[in-house]
Amino acid sequence: MIHPYRDLSWKAHNAIPKDNAYALLPISSIEQHGPHMPVGTDDFILEYVLRRLTGDPAVQPEIYALPVIHYGLSPEHMDFPGTITLSSQTLSAMIGDILSSLRQHGWQRMVLLNSHGGNKPFLHGLAQEWRRRFGLTVYVMDTCNSLYDRYAAGVMETPPALEVHAGEDETSQLLCAYPDTVHMEELEAGFGKSVGHLPGQKDSWFTAEVDPSGIIGAAHLATREKGEELTSLVCRSVVEQLNAMEA
Ligand SMILES: [Zn+2]
Repeated sequence: MIHPYRDLSWKAHNAIPKDNAYALLPISSIEQHGPHMPVGTDDFILEYVLRRLTGDPAVQPEIYALPVIHYGLSPEHMDFPGTITLSSQTLSAMIGDILSSLRQHGWQRMVLLNSHGGNKPFLHGLAQEWRRRFGLTVYVMDTCNSLYDRYAAGVMETPPALEVHAGEDETSQLLCAYPDTVHMEELEAGFGKSVGHLPGQKDSWFTAEVDPSGIIGAAHLATREKGEELTSLVCRSVVEQLNAMEA
């Protein structure tokens, strides 16, 4: 079961059997998500998923969820007002300090639960280094990696290669999690103009070079009903990943 870490006193923390529990550090982003969604989209989706899973008996391991790191690595979106990005050094230092504190209190295993695609290569790439440096087993999981499930379930209409950012998937999920923040009337109909054609420099693409709207996908296909199904699929995927840690 997932418990909120910050609700407990030091005495309650002291009583947690650390050899049988995991600390979970959620991480998201503050970055543009098109003209129709707020810069907090990844953050709102992650908090909503966590809220739904907190206390759910389907989660088998004992997990203590720390407060969210609300900022991530978003240099690709900095051409759009409102986006805040950390440098990789700052994010690495912040996560390192948290891991070091956890280790000092006897934690041996921890999970990073990430909701922003741009954080993925960084977090997965540093997991081994963090284990060496801090002596904690580190699991990295993403709320945004169950795209195959979403297509298998027949919910998504956007062709997979065109679904990159602020499209049908995220817009639907936010319509489920926090509908008042979504403004569908800001969308122009049709797929983004250059979707599916990330520029030749590949790894160093900027969103504004791909589509000036900030959307790489088909946001107009989003509905709240799809969002409810997609959110359930995301929650199920996270539960499966958490339960697999014990296997
Ligand atoms: Zn996002």
